[in-house]
Amino acid sequence: MTHHAPKDPGDWIASRMNHIDASGIRRIFDLAAGMDQKVDLSIGQPHFATPPSVRRALADAVENGHNGYSPSPGIPPLREALQQQVDTRHQHDDRRVMVTSGTSGGLVLALCTLVNPGDEVILFDPGFMMYRHLVALAGGTSVTVDTYPEFRVDVDRVEKAITDRTKAIVYNSPGNPTGAMDDPETIDDLARLAADHGIVLISDEIYSRFCYDRPFHSPASANPQTLVIDGFSKSHSMTGWRLGFSHGPAEIIDQMTKLQQFTFVCAPHPVQWAGLAALEVDISDHVQDYHRKRDRLVQRLSGHFGIGGGAGAFYLFLEPPGGNGNEFVNRAIQQGLLIVPGSVFSQRDSHVRVSFAVDDETLDAGADLLIGLL
Ligand code: PMP
Repeated sequence: MTHHAPKDPGDWIASRMNHIDASGIRRIFDLAAGMDQKVDLSIGQPHFATPPSVRRALADAVENGHNGYSPSPGIPPLREALQQQVDTRHQHDDRRVMVTSGTSGGLVLALCTLVNPGDEVILFDPGFMMYRHLVALAGGTSVTVDTYPEFRVDVDRVEKAITDRTKAIVYNSPGNPTGAMDDPETIDDLARLAADHGIVLISDEIYSRFCYDRPFHSPASANPQTLVIDGFSKSHSMTGWRLGFSHGPAEIIDQMTKLQQFTFVCAPHPVQWAGLAALEVDISDHVQDYHRKRDRLVQRLSGHFGIGGGAGAFYLFLEPPGGNGNEFVNRAIQQGLLIVPGSVFSQRDSHVRVSFAVDDETLDAGADLLIGLL
């Protein structure tokens, strides 16, 4: 038997991992972990407790023995309840629901199911960083369309970015990190543009319950082939439970289910029963609370910072004077304020993301610190 010198484990890492860089956001988490006194506006999850009936449903499911594998597309009662909701909203002949391991699970399945090596996927900048990493994982190339300074989609710009290799557009409204929402006409134009070019439109609707200035509008209403990725993490404050759902053309959902069977296997089984309970919970008080917090923060900060977006989700994307996000974040951290540099979500480093999903005391302390940095 031949003995080899120990291999450097780094040499075993696949080259696709070079396209994935998590350092930006990890730096903030590492800093947060080491700080005693901090005002944390960096977190991307609701601050309210998971609703009691949902917690009880999870405990009951575990107690009642729902601890084994579930069917891959989800437990029938949850799938049926979601299908009914989706059918009421969209009335499409060919729109099928599946249950996924979080919205992230749905995104992984969607991009791996749809993107061939060499395909281009249009993303908006700034945008949720997971999209470009998953496009890279699938072997595709991200093509970004800039939306500064208002963070509104310009459909002409999207059309110019389309080539014969374009496979998909990933759209997220209300969006992370800006909370921006496009008007319904623009959303419908984007939806029809995708349809006219034979491109898949993937709509990440995880923040659809958090809309403050106008009702949510899905691109699926103008393009019945839109693939919608959604989940319970934000709406029911259960980010750690990993429950999401996707719906779209049955053929795509079938292939995503096949991939789920051999990757995630199923969404966590007892959590799916909690999801069924979550569908009965009215979260409008929380949405109203975030609406009020949005207004409170905007009122404190306008005149001091450039503010784009903020119509939904629970983030403001602020432009500090001088427009250097990382430099501003470094100074904020020295004052005990945690926020996220815009460069985590963007090719530009001109902005910072602040979350208003915090209690009022933290919100006010954060606003004081932000203004104090100017
Ligand atoms: N999409 C967007 C736009 C998000 O902001 C997040 C969470 N930060 C996700 C998807 C992932 O959510 P989940 O916890 O359901 O995987």
